[in-house]
Amino acid sequence: MPQRHWDAVGVGIGPANLSLAALLDPLTDFRPRFFDRRPAFEWHPGLLLDGTTIQVSFIKDLVTLADPTSRFSFLAFLHAEDRIYSFFHAEFPRVSRTEFNQYYRWASERLRSLEFGTTVEAVTCDRLLRVHTDRGTVSTTSLVLGSGAQPLLPDCAAPHLGPTVFHACSYLQNRGAGAGRRVVVVGGGQTGAEIVLDLLADPRVRPREVCWLSRRPNFLPLDESPFANEWFTPAYSDHFFQLAPTLRERLVAEQKLASDGISPGLLGALYRRLYELRHLDGGECRWRCCPGRELRELAPAAAAAGREAVWRLRVEPTQGAVAETLEAEVVILATGFSHGIGDYLKPIAHLLPPESRNGDLHVRDDFSVAWDGPPGCRIFVQGGARVWRGPAERNLSLNAWRSATIVNSLLGRTVYRTTPPAPIVDWGTPTVATRGAVAPRPGRTGEAGDLPAAPPRLDEGGRAPEPDASAVRKAPR
Ligand SMILES: Cc1cc2nc3c(=O)[nH]c(=O)nc-3n(C[C@H](O)[C@H](O)[C@H](O)COP(=O)(O)OP(=O)(O)OC[C@H]3O[C@@H](n4cnc5c(N)ncnc54)[C@H](O)[C@@H]3O)c2cc1C
Repeated sequence: MPQRHWDAVGVGIGPANLSLAALLDPLTDFRPRFFDRRPAFEWHPGLLLDGTTIQVSFIKDLVTLADPTSRFSFLAFLHAEDRIYSFFHAEFPRVSRTEFNQYYRWASERLRSLEFGTTVEAVTCDRLLRVHTDRGTVSTTSLVLGSGAQPLLPDCAAPHLGPTVFHACSYLQNRGAGAGRRVVVVGGGQTGAEIVLDLLADPRVRPREVCWLSRRPNFLPLDESPFANEWFTPAYSDHFFQLAPTLRERLVAEQKLASDGISPGLLGALYRRLYELRHLDGGECRWRCCPGRELRELAPAAAAAGREAVWRLRVEPTQGAVAETLEAEVVILATGFSHGIGDYLKPIAHLLPPESRNGDLHVRDDFSVAWDGPPGCRIFVQGGARVWRGPAERNLSLNAWRSATIVNSLLGRTVYRTTPPAPIVDWGTPTVATRGAVAPRPGRTGEAGDLPAAPPRLDEGGRAPEPDASAVRKAPR
């Protein structure tokens, strides 16, 4: 009979919960289960474009920054796949997204706790959390939300979604839709830039005309400087967490380019391509790069009989230029992603804290949500707490550290050392500690000293089982 009760259930198997599964894997006294609706691991498949690279070092893989000895590291993958020498000789400035996707897939194929092809449809609770999937219901005391973000659409575009107006997340499925046509790409971040370069680079998909819009004042680079990178450390995440809410919100906006800017290498490649098209390639594709413009209206233009449907876009300046009306056969919305509670949480939404304006949930220092659920039942959030933890929440940088923090909290003991190493930057002492943000500390565990004891893990009937001393493994420190 399939197992129906798990010590923890993860919703979604993206890099975040894959990291958690990898760090839980060596622990024989803990039984987690992770579900993903996809048939196998895939990392943003609609945007897995040729030539794109990851924006962080490969050391920020699933495990290394929490446990460099783990068998699920990127280096372990290269070694297992017999490419470790040639990888180093190739001296890629950044690892390709295709290769990181291969690595994630490789790790996913070695983890027994993962179940693909299973959609979580609803979560309810009584004494336990019940996770209802399209393949049955399981129970747990600990839920880990790793279901990622949803495509964010401008209000004016949402009603027109279809084969000629689509979000960037389905770009590859629709690649070619703009060939020989007029295309508008909305969004001046990394994804918009990758799509514009793809459209201009490959003659098979090249439009007759490309117009690239961005609300930002220019096509601005990702800030990868060492001091900006200090924002992506455990020490800064902990510091940020203790700041006053209004300050945290302001910092999220101020630090945007450290996570949402365009990779300098991509900007260079794009600029060179535009130069080639203008001066070397005979000018068969016209293009415009239009920063400082915001899409305000999108509507079908009256199509002349026998002519292809055309979209009319009203674009307003964010700085000085006059408003314009554009026409295009294809509109690609590289307008980002938003967090927020998934539909599957609706049955327990009344027990959750109110979301912040950008959809983040109120988390405590162990990434568990401060909620009004049954005692002993906890919900952890992966990557959906930027307003609480800072810019690294939307990025791969602290994946391993956050997962290690969650492991320690799930187990109620220090399985992985998560104490932040001293940062280079002295961020000062916050004047306001975030109220109610520290996970309850019911008592010392003896082993960890500074960790809250995890609530007792309940069995299927909601009872605390007798401890099984023989099952406890000596966990990595
Ligand atoms: C194209 C792209 C490239 C990126 N590249 C980088 C990068 O190079 N460096 C960096 O630091 N950050 C990058 N990011 C940002 C971030 O690191 C990634 O978005 C990362 O994938 C987030 O991981 P996740 O596990 O939280 O969510 P996701 O990767 O989005 O995974 C969520 C998973 O949950 C599943 N799911 C959702 N709902 C359900 C449900 N109800 N039931 C079952 N399964 C469900 C989905 O199928 C999906 O597999 C990138 C983002 C994008 C969009």
